[in-house]
Amino acid sequence: QAKESGRNRYRFFAASMNEQLNRQRQIAINLRQSLDRDEFHLVFQPQVDLRNQHIIACEALLRWQPKEAADWASPAEFIPVAERSDLIIRLGQWVIQAACRQVAKWRSQQLLPIRVDINVSGKQLQQPGFFNFFSETLAEYGLTPKDIGIELTENVLIGADQELLRRLTSLHESGMEVSIDDFGAGYSSLSYLKHFPVHTLKIDRAFVVEAPYQDKDKAILEAIVQVGHKLGLNIVVEGIETEQQAIFCQKLHCDLAQGYYFYKPMPANQLAELLAQPS
Ligand code: C2E
Ligand code: MG
Ligand code: MG
Ligand code: MG
Repeated sequence: QAKESGRNRYRFFAASMNEQLNRQRQIAINLRQSLDRDEFHLVFQPQVDLRNQHIIACEALLRWQPKEAADWASPAEFIPVAERSDLIIRLGQWVIQAACRQVAKWRSQQLLPIRVDINVSGKQLQQPGFFNFFSETLAEYGLTPKDIGIELTENVLIGADQELLRRLTSLHESGMEVSIDDFGAGYSSLSYLKHFPVHTLKIDRAFVVEAPYQDKDKAILEAIVQVGHKLGLNIVVEGIETEQQAIFCQKLHCDLAQGYYFYKPMPANQLAELLAQPS
C-alpha cells in the first residue's frame, strides 16, 4: 500500500516535471520567434524620493506580447528560461537598444531628464562583448553612461571574477549608476559590499512587506539601511504597495521607493505625460 502510493506520487511528480520542461521548451521556441518578429516592448516604473515623492529615476521592465495570446508568459517565467539558453544575450541586447532609443527620443523632445535603469542578467554581463555593445549603443544614440543605469543581482556580483569587477569598476567610474537588485533575497552579506563598485541597494520586496508588523524583518531592514548608508550607498525599497509601508520606510530613512502604491510600470508615452505635468 505504502509502496504503491509512493510510486503514484513519483509518477505524479515525474509527470508534472515533464509538463514543466515541455512548457519551458515551448517558451524558448516562442521567444526565439518573437525576437525575429519584434514582439517585445519596455514599460517604465518610476522611483520616487520618499521625502517629497518626486520622480528621480525609473526602471525599464521587459514585456512580451506574442501574437498568439496563449503563448504569453510573465517576465518572472520567461526571463529564467531565456537565462538558461543564449536567448538572454539577444533579449538583453534588445533591451539595451530599446532603452537607449527611448531615452534618446525623450532627450530630443526635452522630456524626461531622469535616469533609466535596465536589468542585466549574469550570463549577459559575462558575455565578452557586453561592455563594448553597451558603450557602442550609448554612443550610437548620443547618450552618456549617466543616462542609463544597470541593475545586477547579488549572485552575479558574488560570482564575479577580477576581470568582470575591473570592467564594472570602470563603468561605475564613468558615472553609470550600478544597483544591486533584490538585495536580501540572496546571500545578503553586507561585508562584500565594500568590494563592489555599486551606488545603490534595491531592497527586495520580501523584507518590506512584513517589516511594519514583523520585528525581525524590521531589524534586518534597519541594519541594511544603516550599513548601506555608512558605506555611502543609496537605499531603494522595492514593492511598496501601501501607505503604511511607505511611511515606515521613510522613517527608516530609505532614500527612494518603487512600487504600485506610487506608480505601476507604464508605457513610455504615459511616463512622458506624467513628467510633463507640473509637480
Ligand atoms: P525586478 O528587477 O526586481 O523588477 C521589479 C519587479 O517587481 C517587476 O516585475 C515589477 O513590475 C514588480 N513590482 C513593482 N512594484 C511592485 C509592487 O508594488 N508589488 C509587487 N508585487 N510587484 C511590484 P516584472 O516586470 O514582472 O519583472 C520581474 C523580474 O523579471 C524583474 O524583477 C527582473 O528580475 C526580471 N526582468 C524584467 N525585465 C527584465 C529585463 O529587461 N532584463 C532582465 N535580465 N530581467 C528582467
Ligand atoms: Mg530590477
Ligand atoms: Mg528587484
Ligand atoms: Mg525582483
